Amino acid sequence: EDKILQIQNLKKHFTVGKGQVLQAVNDVSFYVNKGETFGLVGESGCGKSTIGRTIMGLYNKTAGDVTYDGDNIHQLDDKGKFNFYRKMQMIFQDPYASLNPRSTVKEVISEPMEVHGMFKSKRELLDRVYQLLEEVGLNRDHANRYPHEFSGGQRQRIGIARALALNPDFIIADEPISALDVSVQAQVVNLLKELQKEKGLTFLFIAHDLSMVKQISDRIGVMYLGNMVELTESARLYENPLHPYTQALLSAIPIPDPDIEEARERVILEGELPSPINPPSGCVFRTRCPVAMEVCSLKKPDWQEVEQNHYVACHLYDETLEDRELVGQ
Ligand code: SF4
Ligand code: MG
Repeated sequence: EDKILQIQNLKKHFTVGKGQVLQAVNDVSFYVNKGETFGLVGESGCGKSTIGRTIMGLYNKTAGDVTYDGDNIHQLDDKGKFNFYRKMQMIFQDPYASLNPRSTVKEVISEPMEVHGMFKSKRELLDRVYQLLEEVGLNRDHANRYPHEFSGGQRQRIGIARALALNPDFIIADEPISALDVSVQAQVVNLLKELQKEKGLTFLFIAHDLSMVKQISDRIGVMYLGNMVELTESARLYENPLHPYTQALLSAIPIPDPDIEEARERVILEGELPSPINPPSGCVFRTRCPVAMEVCSLKKPDWQEVEQNHYVACHLYDETLEDRELVGQ
């Protein structure tokens, strides 16, 4: 498999007020294979959008490396960056906010192609706009209308058409369906899946819960308070979640079968999400972990591969802990 995107020990800290440091992303490593969908999941404020923006080069990194197709993206010169943006595009949670309300749909979709000088004639450009509208399930009659005339789902389709305009290989979708009605969510997810198949796209799909991500992702990384806590194939994560936080997230998804729904145990997380300005010592999840042990406040758990392609950061699975006494039980 071809690792198109590699994130190594990525760290992104922000200085906020009086020299306080917000640790948005801490030492996160993962890769995305060409043609797959990698789901990045966690509560809001866990650092997933920051990762997306740092990959796009919209933020400088604090430490670590982001490599796309062999290029270290934070070392690209202006020309390199310009070309990189052809290959990687982003779609956002609120399509209305990301579309200029004073531009027509045609202008919104044409803009990146004009910036990149893709077509010599207006006619070719317009034909391409029509083609893109059709690819996302809209039509040419929509071209001269304004974004506010459309429903949320349609606006997201316009955002997708714009993201596809430069023929990218990779799309970062930052909560693209979170603001949409459930029925519309499935339509947008299906559209993304179809486009992926047709065009061989690779997706980094960011979401705050696991329900939709399950269907769309090949592999999933779970984030908590700036740290990645578990990563494995989608099916395996659902069958055998190892990290207590993943277990809690999964138990929050309703199951349509009432018998199963009644029989299963729900993990309720106590307490509030701590601030990334002052994260807990040791394991960042320990203040809300139902099975926290003494060692959890003393030592940060290592990121380790506990079975093939299944990574977790939790002392429960740490065979190397010298003092087993601290683990308790
Ligand atoms: Fe819970 Fe400890 Fe594992 Fe953290 S390291 S998830 S606190 S058991
Ligand atoms: Mg976000």
